[in-house]
Amino acid sequence: MVNKKKKVAVLGGGMAALTAAYQLSQQDDYEIDIYQIGWRLGGKGASGRNTELGDRIEEHGLHVWLGFYDNAFSTLRKVYQELDRPADAPLSRMYSAGGKGSTPSGAPMDAFTPINWLNMLETTPDGTRKPWRVEFPQNDLEPGLHNEIISMWGYLELFLKWGIRDLAGDLFQPPGCMKIFKSVFKRKKQRQNFTDKFQHLVKPASDVEEVLRNRGVDTLPETDQREAALWHLAHHLHAGLGADVKDHTEKDHSVLVWLIKEAVNERWRRIKDTVETNDDERRLWSLSYLALSYFAGCLENRVLYKGYSHLNNLDLREWFYSIQLVKEPLANQLAIESAPMQALYDLAFHYEDGDTKKPRLAAGIAIEILSRMVMGYKGSILYFMNAGMGDTIFTPLYQVLKRRGVKFHFFHKVTELGLSDDKKSLKSVKISRQINLKKDQYDPLVDVKDLECWPNRPLFDQIVEGQALKDSGENLEHAWNSWTDTGGEITLDADNGDFDHVILGITLDALPEITKQLTQADEAKWGGMLNGIKTVQTQAMQLWFNGDAESLGVDKTRPVVGAYVEPLSSMTDFSHLLERENWDANGPKHLIYDCGVLEQKNNETQPAADKRVRDNVVDFINNDASLLWPKATSSINPTGLDWSALYAPENVSGEDRVDHQYLRANIDPTERYVLSLPNTVKYRIKTDESGFERLILTGTWIDLGFNIACIEAAVISGMQAARVLTGEPGHIVGETYKELL
Ligand SMILES: Cc1cc2nc3c(=O)[nH]c(=O)nc-3n(C[C@H](O)[C@H](O)[C@H](O)COP(=O)(O)OP(=O)(O)OC[C@H]3O[C@@H](n4cnc5c(N)ncnc54)[C@H](O)[C@@H]3O)c2cc1C
Repeated sequence: MVNKKKKVAVLGGGMAALTAAYQLSQQDDYEIDIYQIGWRLGGKGASGRNTELGDRIEEHGLHVWLGFYDNAFSTLRKVYQELDRPADAPLSRMYSAGGKGSTPSGAPMDAFTPINWLNMLETTPDGTRKPWRVEFPQNDLEPGLHNEIISMWGYLELFLKWGIRDLAGDLFQPPGCMKIFKSVFKRKKQRQNFTDKFQHLVKPASDVEEVLRNRGVDTLPETDQREAALWHLAHHLHAGLGADVKDHTEKDHSVLVWLIKEAVNERWRRIKDTVETNDDERRLWSLSYLALSYFAGCLENRVLYKGYSHLNNLDLREWFYSIQLVKEPLANQLAIESAPMQALYDLAFHYEDGDTKKPRLAAGIAIEILSRMVMGYKGSILYFMNAGMGDTIFTPLYQVLKRRGVKFHFFHKVTELGLSDDKKSLKSVKISRQINLKKDQYDPLVDVKDLECWPNRPLFDQIVEGQALKDSGENLEHAWNSWTDTGGEITLDADNGDFDHVILGITLDALPEITKQLTQADEAKWGGMLNGIKTVQTQAMQLWFNGDAESLGVDKTRPVVGAYVEPLSSMTDFSHLLERENWDANGPKHLIYDCGVLEQKNNETQPAADKRVRDNVVDFINNDASLLWPKATSSINPTGLDWSALYAPENVSGEDRVDHQYLRANIDPTERYVLSLPNTVKYRIKTDESGFERLILTGTWIDLGFNIACIEAAVISGMQAARVLTGEPGHIVGETYKELL
């Protein structure tokens, strides 16, 4: 019988490619083969268990999921449902009831744990460094179940309310029910008094009174304070505008911005002499000034009508500086150079060439992610995984796809895409097989405390040349390893019926070699894309400690730190993962993950980069440990950690103990993080616009609408790739700004 299924070759097994395979395999019309270099799935999100060291988890870096990852959570929720693990198995469900479920043996039932705060390290104007914690209240929404998205005006309103509430303080609070009730009775009298008092107190610019009158705003608070009057008017004008932005006029918006500017300037005059020394006042100022600048900047730049993307020629901080609610430099600097702002650049690795003196992040993209991150989260702002990212995300995906009949080809390194003679379509895919397997299929997982996990290196006993590979110490995931592939070369040929479509899920910096023919055929588009979009190297460390949080002096609430000392500036306490590792009673009691960018050095080898990361970590531990682990500092060096606090064999002393932690330099082309620098989004190519028949693109490097590299973007791009073939899913949440209007 003729096989009518379409054959799809998926190249790469990162989040984007696997999502595409997941979506396609919902239908029975496709035969799907996934080709993956090395021994595991997950790409930049892959993790591995170190079976020789307590089955500890080793990651590419620090990974958390943000509460607004609607597509990623809903995909994973369905994956866990389909996987249908026994209820008493660890990680038997994605997330339910606040993530508090546990099995009879005490293992977590849920794949995720919610986190409702972000800690930052603030460098105050006098140069001291102080912790700063921002709370994000948990809401009733469930990640992956409630996927409604707020309108763009809705986001703006939330920022406005936040800014006014915090900055105006007790001068003005948006009215509760009783106040509105009373105001009905006062209204008539107030109306008579309004004009006189308004002119006298508010000293309005032209158009202000007319706009307020048109929008039915004709009350003033009883106080004679101008600032209070301005907050009151801004709030009521905004409320009078209504939700449909098509009914707003440009004049409405300019008057609203005028009221906010005037109010903010009044406030600044009151606090400017104390704001530098008063921590609470300064922090309130920074956050509310950013919120109100965001609101005013979006209105002034007509973002509601033109979308976010037209701001992408500016860096985020440049954009904020252009708004200038207050003209004085200090007023702007305190907010725009504040720790939360730094944390955003840090979390998104947005430093050009990995140089922390060159923070650059396209403004349109940044404000889109900011809105969704801070105002659009479901349940909690952050979620921690309850095992390694590989174990939590990629094991379930792998197992479900395998059950559905998707074929996995590990140790298959794609080397070249070939074009047809007329250069219009993809004809071939060349693949180098890195090893020979002893049996037909590679079985990639290992069991760790009843959870199937990915090992941190190949399972050598399944490989014909396993011993030689082990002895060589070569890493098959690295582009520049000196292992000579032993499995021979294969070529998938469309003309032989090997594939009908290829989904290219290999990431950007690995592509120049692989897609040479494509670049030759379309230099402007492919060459432009490969040169125009930039990536960055990252570095990461995981430190295991002998003592628990209390003995180290760690704050009781687990730190999730952004804006720490550059470059290792993003850090979290992941001690909950120790339970999922395999230690005896004398094992480590505290665990932190930390990562940041790694400055670009051309032609650097992996060992040289590894050495640089080690130096950075030693530096960090010697100079920046005391604020984090105040009870474990060294008696000879009060800023540094006592090396014996790190978990390592007893006979190892001093900084050598760092060699028993997990450090990582992500310099391999495929490990580099994709950046969204100003003026670069234009080089991206959409999933169905490769320019070559049969070739569909996926990954965080394509133009997917939500162009910031993260798991949510990878999932969206995978959905888009599948949609090219199946038309499904018809609707992808948050794909473009248009649906936000
Ligand atoms: C250190 C670090 C920390 C991060 N932290 C977070 C976080 O906390 N939250 C978040 O949302 N995002 C985070 N990200 C970003 C996120 O991990 C990535 O955006 C996402 O995983 C990218 O997925 P992808 O499928 O587009 O690409 P990739 O994951 O790069 O997938 C590409 C795949 O292709 C494979 N491949 C490469 N070359 C070949 C070849 N020649 N032949 C066959 N296969 C090949 C790779 O092995 C990989 O499986 C982080 C990234 C890094 C680097």
